[in-house]
Formats: sequence, structure tokens, C-alpha cells
Amino acid sequence: MDFLNIINRLKLNRDLPDEDLKLLIDSAEANELLASAADEIRRKNYADEVYIRGLVEFSNICKNNCYYCGIRCSNAKAVRYRLSKEDILDCCSEGYELGFRTFVLQGGEDPHFTDEVMCDIISSIRNLYPDCAITLSVGERSKESYQAYFNAGANRFLLRHETATDDHYSRLHPDDLSLVNRKKCLFHLKEIGFQVGSGFMVDSPYQTTENLVADLRFLQELQPDMIGIGPFIRHEDTPFANFESGSLYKTLRLVSILRLMFPYALIPSTTALGTIHSQGREMGLRAGANVVMPNLSPKRVRELYMLYDNKISTDEEAAESVEKLKKKVESAGYRVVTARGDVKK
Ligand code: SAM
Repeated sequence: MDFLNIINRLKLNRDLPDEDLKLLIDSAEANELLASAADEIRRKNYADEVYIRGLVEFSNICKNNCYYCGIRCSNAKAVRYRLSKEDILDCCSEGYELGFRTFVLQGGEDPHFTDEVMCDIISSIRNLYPDCAITLSVGERSKESYQAYFNAGANRFLLRHETATDDHYSRLHPDDLSLVNRKKCLFHLKEIGFQVGSGFMVDSPYQTTENLVADLRFLQELQPDMIGIGPFIRHEDTPFANFESGSLYKTLRLVSILRLMFPYALIPSTTALGTIHSQGREMGLRAGANVVMPNLSPKRVRELYMLYDNKISTDEEAAESVEKLKKKVESAGYRVVTARGDVKK
């Protein structure tokens, strides 16, 4: 198989017919060629820069019951927590000192965080740190709510579509959650003016290669600024406890394919990649990712935001170990920069 030819066509056209995409997704022989083509394109667009985002996991309370997720509401074994506004501002203050210029507030869909509560937190961060980007990852809300968060000063929003195939979506989620609504939320966010991030899990239960191609096609339609993917990882207290965790190399191939299809995108080398392999983060960067999101949450809650088994909260994962992280990134051939790191479209 002439993988070089297929990859060159992808590089040139930012697109391929479905059959060629499927071939690349499934072929281990393409690993190296894909990564080096993706690296060439990432360097053209972003040089060797790696942007860092300070992740504040502010609540693991969630009203949803996604079958794959460790903080689903039916998991009675999860020890729940919620950070106060003061806790969150402390995280930002520590992060700012450490050089972070983007704060990512991520949490379960926790009803305590009403629009009023969210807007108060967002506007406080905005007033204290006018030079920083505020990213939200708080799930599905109404267009009015998203507009209120934007008006309060949030700039970016991460909402993975998870899978762009209806029947696959309904195998991963209970009936009260739908792909239609997920997509509607994403388009609302775009209309409002957020920089939008979406993405999916690789090797989630029942996923086929056709599903992954549909994910790529949906991203072409959405044209997101940020794309986050990671392997599905089993969690022992979920209905998917007996499924295998996802493949490292398939995830890396998809990171490279995404870089070639969306040269401008901000693509994180995710915690899930770092969890399935000790060098997963570095491998993600070498495959075309250009963002890392260390954890700024207070130490006492880090172990509790357990989306999947063995989620890492090692030293390099922690935002306070920024120096260690810088060395790791350098060892992979890149450079951490302190900048807001907006999308270069
Ligand atoms: N509630 C918000 C939402 O739905 O976007 C943000 C939090 S949610 C826990 C963040 C992401 O974690 C999800 O988009 C999902 O892709 C990922 N995730 C959850 N469980 C996972 C698992 N078992 N393996 C890998 N990723 C998982």
C-alpha cells in the first residue's frame, strides 16, 4: 500500500475519500509517515510552540449518566466535591503566577452552577485577569446561558461531540441525551462567537471505523478551533467496566490525521493519552498536537475527578510542576510558551 501517496494527498487537499481515511485510521504501518507529515504541518503553522492551559476541575457532580464516565450520576462510589468561587479564584491566582494565560473551567453538569453563579465566577476572573482567555467545559446549556457566559467574559468552550453517528451516540448515552442536541449546542456556541472545541473518544465501545470517519466529517462541517481526542479508558464503576481501553497508536494516527485536515487547529495532547502510556503526552505532541492542559485544581480534589481508571495526577500533570513539564516538552522537540495561544486561522 502506498501510504506516502495517500498522506501526501491528505496534506495537499486537507481531505480524502472515506476509504482512504479508513485505511489510514486502521493501518499501524502508517504511524511514522503520518506523524512526520503532521509534524511538518504543525511546524509550518505553529513552529515548535506548545500552549499550556491551566485546567480547573471545579465539580465532579453531574446530573448526566453517560455510560462511559466515572462521574456519571449513578456511580454511588464516586466521592463528590464542588469548588467554591474562592477556591476557583485561588486556582487562577496560582496559575497566573506560574505563567498560565488560559484557564479552563471544566466540570460535570452540576445544577449548583446556575447561570448566575457561573457568570459571577466568569466575570470575577475576567476582571482580575483581563489578559487571559477563559475556557469553559460545562456541557449542554441553552443558547441564552451560553450567551450570558460569553457576555460575562468567557472566550472559548470545549464540548466534545463524542460520536457523530446517531445510533452509536445512543449506545454511549441514556435516552435523555441526544446527538441532535449536542450538535445544536455546538452551533449555538459558534454563532455566539466562542472559539469552539469539539472531539471524540477513540475506541469507545461499539465504535467502528465508519463512526470515526463520520466524526471527521462532522468536524469538517463544524470547523472547530480546538479538537480534543483521547482513547476511551474503562472505569470499573460504570456499565462499560468490561470493555477494553482504547489503542494508543490509533489515537496518535487520528491526532496526525486531524492535524493534516485542520492545520490551524489547537489540538491538545490529552490526559487520557498520558494515562494509557507513560510517554503518551510526548507521543501526542510528536503526532501533531500543540497544547497541554496541566491540572490547576487543588491537590485535595485531584484524585476525585476520576473520569476513568488510573487517571494520572502525577507531578508532570500538575500545573505547579511547570518546569518539569517544560523539560518534557523540550525532550519531545518543542517549546512551552506563555501566551494566550489563540487559534491561528
Ligand atoms: N460535562 C462536560 C461535558 O460533557 O463536556 C465536561 C466534562 S466531561 C467528563 C469531559 C470529557 O471526558 C468528555 O467529553 C469525554 O469525552 C471524556 N471522558 C469521560 N469518560 C471517559 C472515559 N471513560 N474515557 C475517556 N474519556 C472520557
